[in-house]
Amino acid sequence: MAKTRQRDNETDQRLVLLVGLVALFAAAVALGSVPALLAHPPATTRDLAIVFTLIALTATGLVVRSPVRVRSATHYTAWTDAAIVISVAVAPLGWAVPCVGIGALGGALLMRLQPIKIVFAVSKSVVVAGGAGLTLTATGWKWPAGGELLEMIGPLGATYIATALIDEALAIPVIALAAHTKVIQRFAANWDLRLASVAIHYGVVVATLAILQVDNILLLAVPPLVLSLHLAYSARVRSREERQAWQRLAQTTDALNDVNLDAVVATAVTRAAELFSVDDVEVELHTTPRLIRGNTDGITYDGPAADAPAMTGSVILTSLEGHDGTADVGVLRLRFRGPVTLSEREQYTLRTFTSALCTAVRNASAYEELTRVAEEHAHAAAHDTLTGLANRRQLMDRGAELLGNRRVDGVTALLLIDLNHFKEVNDTLGHAAGDQVLIEVAERLRREARPDDLVARLGGDEFAVLITGLPAPAIAAHRAEGLLAALHVPLSVDGMRISVEASGGIAVAPGSGGMAELLRRADVAMYQAKRNGQKIATYARARDTADVGRLALGGDLPRALTQHEFTVNFQPIVDLGTGEVIAAEALARWRHPDRGNLDPLRFLETVERSGLLPAFADAVLDQSLVAAGTWRDAGFDLPVAVNVSPRSLLDPRFPSAVVARLRAHDLPSDRLYLELTETLTISQLEVVDQVLSQLRDAGIKLALDDFGTGYSSLSVLSRIPVHELKIDRGFVTAMDTSAEAAAVIRSTVDLGRSLDLVVVAEGVESEPQRKALWELGCTAGQGHLFARPMPSARLLAALHRGSGGRPGALAPAIHDEGSVIRLSPNRRTNGRGRTDRLPHLPA
Ligand code: C2E
Ligand code: CA
Ligand code: CA
Repeated sequence: MAKTRQRDNETDQRLVLLVGLVALFAAAVALGSVPALLAHPPATTRDLAIVFTLIALTATGLVVRSPVRVRSATHYTAWTDAAIVISVAVAPLGWAVPCVGIGALGGALLMRLQPIKIVFAVSKSVVVAGGAGLTLTATGWKWPAGGELLEMIGPLGATYIATALIDEALAIPVIALAAHTKVIQRFAANWDLRLASVAIHYGVVVATLAILQVDNILLLAVPPLVLSLHLAYSARVRSREERQAWQRLAQTTDALNDVNLDAVVATAVTRAAELFSVDDVEVELHTTPRLIRGNTDGITYDGPAADAPAMTGSVILTSLEGHDGTADVGVLRLRFRGPVTLSEREQYTLRTFTSALCTAVRNASAYEELTRVAEEHAHAAAHDTLTGLANRRQLMDRGAELLGNRRVDGVTALLLIDLNHFKEVNDTLGHAAGDQVLIEVAERLRREARPDDLVARLGGDEFAVLITGLPAPAIAAHRAEGLLAALHVPLSVDGMRISVEASGGIAVAPGSGGMAELLRRADVAMYQAKRNGQKIATYARARDTADVGRLALGGDLPRALTQHEFTVNFQPIVDLGTGEVIAAEALARWRHPDRGNLDPLRFLETVERSGLLPAFADAVLDQSLVAAGTWRDAGFDLPVAVNVSPRSLLDPRFPSAVVARLRAHDLPSDRLYLELTETLTISQLEVVDQVLSQLRDAGIKLALDDFGTGYSSLSVLSRIPVHELKIDRGFVTAMDTSAEAAAVIRSTVDLGRSLDLVVVAEGVESEPQRKALWELGCTAGQGHLFARPMPSARLLAALHRGSGGRPGALAPAIHDEGSVIRLSPNRRTNGRGRTDRLPHLPA
């Protein structure tokens, strides 16, 4: 502050000095003209009239000027230069210089300028008149020229240029000093405007002198002429300026019509800079404490008002309020380097502009608030408030969208998770602790889920994960395992370690029924998991009591048993390397008289619930053993694999029944494999453990079916002594497109190798799959590539026929003839499978 004042003082001193210098110079010029005046003073009344007119002419030239403000500098186009040139052209130098001096003094006094400005105006006019007179004399000018107009143009032109140059040379340093700008900048500023006014004035000078050629006394008419010319001209200029100004204002208020606050303030700043010809414009908002500064070129600062760099110069401040004076949303500052007063029109423009800006800021703020509220509502409507997860509604919407879109890649599945014993946590530790558990569970699920999955809380302790883009349905359970495993790490609540147990049900998107059906199926699976004490269960239609058409079969069951409508088909299990059959799986069929051939998924659940399961299982086992006996007698000593319902394992009499059957058919117990499904977790029940160990003790082989789809297969393996793992068909189908499926197969094969188990791949449908499995170390497989399930007799015929002249083989060996036989790393024996597990085929 003090510094600025000091600088202003210095400037004032330098200004006085400069003006003094010009005045001194002017005095010298005036003195120089005295001898000429004395030698030839105006004598006649006519002479006096001319002298008087010249004085009036200069005074008029000074008074009639049009101001053009550019930023803080106002540029005047005055007619003094024209008056001076005319004066020196028509009167002797001795007359012209004093006339111009007196005229300038009169004009300056008329305009009530400050003393220093009067001194400067008079001095400058005198010096310019001197310079102009000398230049004109140097061209050999005579008055009246009496000659052609063309002859006047040259000398007058030279004089006019000298006049303009001297004028600018004297005026610019003074203006620059007063407006605190650089001299060079002043020279460069508005050169086009100045050049244009010089040209017009020159034209007027030449035309005037052409008229005065006739008689000097016509000079009397010149001042009124100049005055009226000026008035007409400036009126025109002003109306044009006003029109343009209104247009600019209208465009600006239009441009302010934006709902984006940033755009509004940016437009306001740049447009105001242009509209009011301002060095810098600032908009300071009160609503969001923020200051935006800029100029015609753009924004230079946007941030908190306190951090904005300080600025000097003069400021015009307007508060941003509406027409009615309400809603003070901020202030607008127009910053100028020098002092400025706005014209009346500009003041009105400013009022209109600020009120438009105020409205625009209010609208934009309101719009922003509205969008924010709408977003908040949308978020609240789609999210669970406690955990921030998606809620049921969003899950349903997103699921419906996915299921309805045919172009979605991959399989969609839904995992439902229900925390066990959550109520106890709530009851014993309080709701706050319960909330903490839910939040932590949500966080873990979110972390474990893939970016495209949607994790939702359905309410209470129920969560759901919508898993998308699965390469194969079989992968769903695998992913679900990972998600559930994340919950099993104990969590700490109020310094206490709590282990959360959860049950999960998984279902793959159904062909029809949409999201509601998917949710229902996942729910069915989850309750099944809970009922069986499993961690996870996959939805199977066979176990879905609500599936229509199933219950109706119940009534037909007794008849089916007595009428022997249940039959068994056999699907060979093949050595992947040699193509030789090493076993056969028995698959039940119901030859229903009305409904045709039914596959097990349609009727198994009904059988299991009907109480007729033992009879059914007995029928299947019986037919299977009969078949195995037949094959053996025909020279193909193959074990038969029979599927066992989990419910059978709850029956303590089951092992003895099986052993009795084996005896009845005179088959060694190792000719029978029993295939057990994932539901093995019920082996936590003592009775199941007993049943399984009795079977094993009897020498019967056990296989774990659908391996990879169930929960925590490894822990099951540690408890149940099985001999074989069957990789679920889903993984085989997906192995060439999904790295995840291939990884499951590889790890199952590795597991089999380390536990000394045979690994059988299900659903081998193509030669490349066979080869890939073989290369992964899987030695055995079954599937449509080799054979579909078929009646016992048909299988026997196929065995006899063989492949490529090899009875007992269903496919050529994997290697070409003559090539090196590649041994699977899993094989210890001569490429025939493991003799202690699966039999050789008779040659
Ligand atoms: P599973 O034990 O996984 O049986 C394999 C299923 O895959 C069979 O279906 C078979 O026909 C089918 N399959 C075999 N190779 C291929 C192939 O290359 N491609 C395709 N797409 N499918 C192939 P199925 O016969 O409909 O049996 C379905 C399920 O029913 C069986 O699955 C098994 O869990 C159960 N099941 C069958 N028979 C019995 C039985 O006697 N008792 C019990 N408790 N369950 C049975
Ligand atoms: Ca099976
Ligand atoms: Ca299976």
